[in-house]
Amino acid sequence: MTAKFKTNSENQLNPNYNPLELETETRQFWENNSIQHKLEELRQKSNNGVLGFVEGPPTLNGIPHIGHYRGRTMKDLRYRWKTMQGYYVPFWAGWDCQGLPVELEVEKLLGVKNKRELLEKVGQERFIQECKKAIMKYHREWVEADRKLGVFINQEKAYWTYKDEYIEREWQYLKRAWEQGLFEEGHYVVAYCPGCQTSLSSAEVGYEDSYKIVEDPSLYFKFRQAGSADTYFLVWTTMPFTLVTDTMLAVHPEAEYAKVKVGQEIWIMVRQRVEPVMQELKIDEYEIVGTVSGKSLEGTGYDFPFKDLVPKQAELEQKHPLVHKVITEDFVDVDTATGVVHQSPGNGEEDFFAAQKRNIPIFAPFDDEVKFTGDAGTFKGMFARDADKIVVEELRKRGLLVSAETVKHEYPTCWRSHHKLVWLARKEYFLRTDKINAKVMEAAEKVRYFYDSPKNRFLSFLREGKPWCISRERVWGTPLPVWRCEKCGEKTLVSTKKELLEKAEQKPQGDFELHKPWVDRVTFKCQKCGGTMYREDFVLDTWHNSGASPYARFTDEEFEKFVPVDYLTEAMDQTRGWANTLLLEYVILTGKPESPYKAFLFQGLTQDAKGRKMSKSLGNVIEVNKILEKYSADVCRFYLLRKCSPIDVNDFDTQELSRRPYQVLSTLYHLSRFFVQNAEFDSFNPSVHTLEWAAREDLLKQADLWLLSRLQETTEAYTAKLDTCEFNFALAGLEDYVIEVLSRLYVPTVRKELWTDDQQTLNRRLAVYATLWHVLKTITLLFNPATPYLCEALYQKVYRKLDSTLPVSVNFENWPKPDGKLRNKNVEESFKTLFKSTSLSYSARQNAKLKRRWPLSRMVVVAPEKTLDTLEKVEDLFLELANVKTVEYALQAPTYASGEGWVSATEGETQIFLDSHRDEGLLGEGLMRDLARRVQALRKELGYLPTDVLEAVRLAELDDESIRLLQPYVEEMQDLVRAEKVQLQSKRGETKTEWHECQLDDKKVYINIT
Ligand SMILES: [Zn+2]
Ligand SMILES: [Zn+2]
Repeated sequence: MTAKFKTNSENQLNPNYNPLELETETRQFWENNSIQHKLEELRQKSNNGVLGFVEGPPTLNGIPHIGHYRGRTMKDLRYRWKTMQGYYVPFWAGWDCQGLPVELEVEKLLGVKNKRELLEKVGQERFIQECKKAIMKYHREWVEADRKLGVFINQEKAYWTYKDEYIEREWQYLKRAWEQGLFEEGHYVVAYCPGCQTSLSSAEVGYEDSYKIVEDPSLYFKFRQAGSADTYFLVWTTMPFTLVTDTMLAVHPEAEYAKVKVGQEIWIMVRQRVEPVMQELKIDEYEIVGTVSGKSLEGTGYDFPFKDLVPKQAELEQKHPLVHKVITEDFVDVDTATGVVHQSPGNGEEDFFAAQKRNIPIFAPFDDEVKFTGDAGTFKGMFARDADKIVVEELRKRGLLVSAETVKHEYPTCWRSHHKLVWLARKEYFLRTDKINAKVMEAAEKVRYFYDSPKNRFLSFLREGKPWCISRERVWGTPLPVWRCEKCGEKTLVSTKKELLEKAEQKPQGDFELHKPWVDRVTFKCQKCGGTMYREDFVLDTWHNSGASPYARFTDEEFEKFVPVDYLTEAMDQTRGWANTLLLEYVILTGKPESPYKAFLFQGLTQDAKGRKMSKSLGNVIEVNKILEKYSADVCRFYLLRKCSPIDVNDFDTQELSRRPYQVLSTLYHLSRFFVQNAEFDSFNPSVHTLEWAAREDLLKQADLWLLSRLQETTEAYTAKLDTCEFNFALAGLEDYVIEVLSRLYVPTVRKELWTDDQQTLNRRLAVYATLWHVLKTITLLFNPATPYLCEALYQKVYRKLDSTLPVSVNFENWPKPDGKLRNKNVEESFKTLFKSTSLSYSARQNAKLKRRWPLSRMVVVAPEKTLDTLEKVEDLFLELANVKTVEYALQAPTYASGEGWVSATEGETQIFLDSHRDEGLLGEGLMRDLARRVQALRKELGYLPTDVLEAVRLAELDDESIRLLQPYVEEMQDLVRAEKVQLQSKRGETKTEWHECQLDDKKVYINIT
């Protein structure tokens, strides 16, 4: 064998596409040559514009999983694409470091159960250090995952939400809110998690998966009407403990209420619910003895039954005339339960507003662990929900219990710890985002969301426009920068460390950071009364922390340049999270109805192969670093983008990776390898043998023109689909071009032309290379944002190898633009006709069981004139694809074609007839092609390059008839299999060589190549 190329040299594509190997090598190339940094520098120096970006910071409380990297793949795709279009994008990392998720993770690591235990056993100082240690551990995992997946995010420019400089800038938002009267302290009913011992924002309560089916008591009880012996209000509840804080009963003013006689008693309830409730209570004998309007019940008193257990309640009743009276409220639901609702302003939002409106004191005797305080009398020290049983028992003792069952219903739990939430009135700090809701909506309407469903979901959530409770009773967070005078209650807000130090009366020794407990040691002197001011003991909601990033992560100058940012993408659950807080804070900061982002793509969830959510408890979480040890980053990226729309749920199935996604990339790889090997063999020079040169020399054929034309269409559609974030459809178009257009249709038409090394046809071959260079290089550039490793490898080993003047990395290239001059709609139309007719000829063959690779002598096409004209223009190609020697065209079917030995197929106005008769010549040629195909496969299998010329090919165990038929085609076969000679033998025995067995129809044939 004479080898034209050395195999396995460093700058050579291996015979097999081995993505893991190729990716390791490419990563080294990027790192050794600082490609990522050079790319940023290049676009910083000269660009077509700046597109701002701020990273949605991953929380460093866990290991990155494949769902996270679906989003990161989309971010990286956008970055590489926009960079190739010449934009400068500050694609800088950022990490969410503080807050409940991190605290809970560290509590678990330290083995403490709750906040009280944490503060007692560990203490704040050590806890802060442990939190920092934990985030650094996870940070390493994330950086490694970014590196493996090929995410070109700048890690050195990362922001960290716990750093003093970030916190100081976060405080500026609060200062702006303070100045606008949007930041205030207040009592309010908040959702409170007894496990995490902190309140949650209403956004957090609505988190996906936070609603669980739980079992609660279902209780009917009665309160006696004051001053009456036998009249009662019938009430229903699922939270008996709230009777401890009960202060009113509410009825609907417009509804009709019935007096129902049950035994010797009269029960008051809404008229329309009498029958269903009696049925539920299994009371058959009852009688409606009268009705009254809800309105007329207003002001009626009732005997609160637990005055003995909770003496404070008796005190409240004495002090306030409306305590333990009936009120009327429109929110009372008359379609469920009894239409009489007991009101606990200390434990319910509506109740709270109803009390506030009437100046009724809010009775909320709870501590931080949601245990009753001394004001709750007998219940003191008891966890709220544990009081349920005792309340039921006390009602029973007093003869007030009607029925006690249980009910299963959906109830919100804590999104982190899954404790049942309790609603509590607490002193908190709020951003009054309800006051600026109109501006927020106006800002949100201006954003581009790409898809309607997430947009509608986001806008309808924003429309709720509730005040935002931003105070948290935790440790590891941005300290609330408000100091309060213990004597006169005067408050002051600081917004920088400098200001803090200037005002300080007392401060910690030496350097300190802006965290608890150090910042708590700073005290001020009250300007008003001279008293001491202490910091309000809260940290900020972690969503406020990350939502401050557009301002906090940049310098003033950068903020001016980059914000509003061009485009963001995060998971769907960020509707209530980051997308929301970014927007609210930005409207507060600027005072304008503006959003900090111009576009926001919400991504769908990623689940396991069976369509289940990934969770630690199911053990089905796919960790990025683990999976990328086994599977290719490019294939994963391609799969994540290609499988479904970015907003759909993606059921990630590792088994699917090795199928279509691998095949597509592998096809691109092998086409590129096929091209470079042939082009090098013929000394193709891309700067001399250009498309313009080929056109000038009239060397381009119809197939080349068609291929180039389809490329323009593909480039245009692909770019448009990237712009609308239809990544799946974008890549489907590219995939179709590679597999169908290039690999299945175009390359077979030129393979034979490239096979020869005849000097006469060299220029034609060079024209084919010019075409393939243009097409394959363009496709490689288009693929780069999705599969950067493969594209860099091809760029280096194909394009830069043939033209060393090209930029150092594929990433420095410019984004391909469709070239109108190369678009040729006529050629595209003709090829449509060509492929239609070809496939019709295949159907005709099928009818007579004639294999496609068997050459036939004659074909007749009957069709309208236009079709015939078109086919005539591409006749060579038509004959080759159809594998027929001659073709006749006719407007009407000739009579001979309906004779014996002819087969046909029809579609629409086109009919194709094939002469099925095969003479010895055709049989021999068919047999030769069958054998040649097997020799070619063997060559490939044994690692020969397509350009290697074999010394000899021996074919053995052929019968005499076959040898006779093959004889005239030996020379043609030598050409086809690139061998100096082809030898036909009846037996193997004579030569001692390695024989490879293969099946030819029902016979066994043996091949040897040297
Ligand atoms: Zn919790
Ligand atoms: Zn004071």
